[in-house]
Amino acid sequence: MIIAVDGPTASGKGTISKQLARHFALPFLDTGLLYRAVGWTLGEQGGDADNPADALAACDFPGALLDNPGLRSEVVGGLASRVSVHPAVRRALDKRQKDFAYQPAGAVLDGRDIGTVIAPDADVKLFVTASADARAVRRYEEMKRRGEQVRFDDILADILRRDERDQSRATAPLRPAEDAYLLDTTNLTIDAAIQQAIALVDAKISGRRDKDPA
Ligand code: C5P
Repeated sequence: MIIAVDGPTASGKGTISKQLARHFALPFLDTGLLYRAVGWTLGEQGGDADNPADALAACDFPGALLDNPGLRSEVVGGLASRVSVHPAVRRALDKRQKDFAYQPAGAVLDGRDIGTVIAPDADVKLFVTASADARAVRRYEEMKRRGEQVRFDDILADILRRDERDQSRATAPLRPAEDAYLLDTTNLTIDAAIQQAIALVDAKISGRRDKDPA
């Protein structure tokens, strides 16, 4: 079974996908980390994130980099969002994601274009959203907890900027697949959102069994 989870930044899709992977005992890939690894490598190489050749040169990163906690920073997230606009970068990361999605054990992948580009025939597609304000509050509280000095307005502006970039790029823009379930987490606790996601996958599996009895 392939479960594709897409959605904007700080919508809760990362936590939801991890819990889906655990619940259904499936391998999990956070595809944002691949773009973050490109952003990180570009930073190390001193390249320009808006230059396609510089960004492509940064796609050749060692697999071990994916375990580096530094990839999670806001700065690297911003670079990831900029390099992900380039079609050559998306092509360079395409095979790795498709190989993961179509491995025999099945998989859960979270990202922006999993249901539309990487695994268009995924068994279940979820599009997780939340209002920009709700997402900014979550990000703000998370950063405060980590002891970082941040301003709410800066976080909200950054989220809006990233949404705009992800939604308006020409290649693989962020949008729900036609057959995706929309899961709006604005007014849900993370536990309630996880339970809804599990229920959606269960409903999809049992619907398939009813249509196609063994
Ligand atoms: O999900 P995360 O915030 O880690 O992703 C970082 C950036 O990578 C996103 O803002 C997005 O621009 C890009 N990305 C993408 N396609 C994916 C996953 C992430 O374009 N499948």
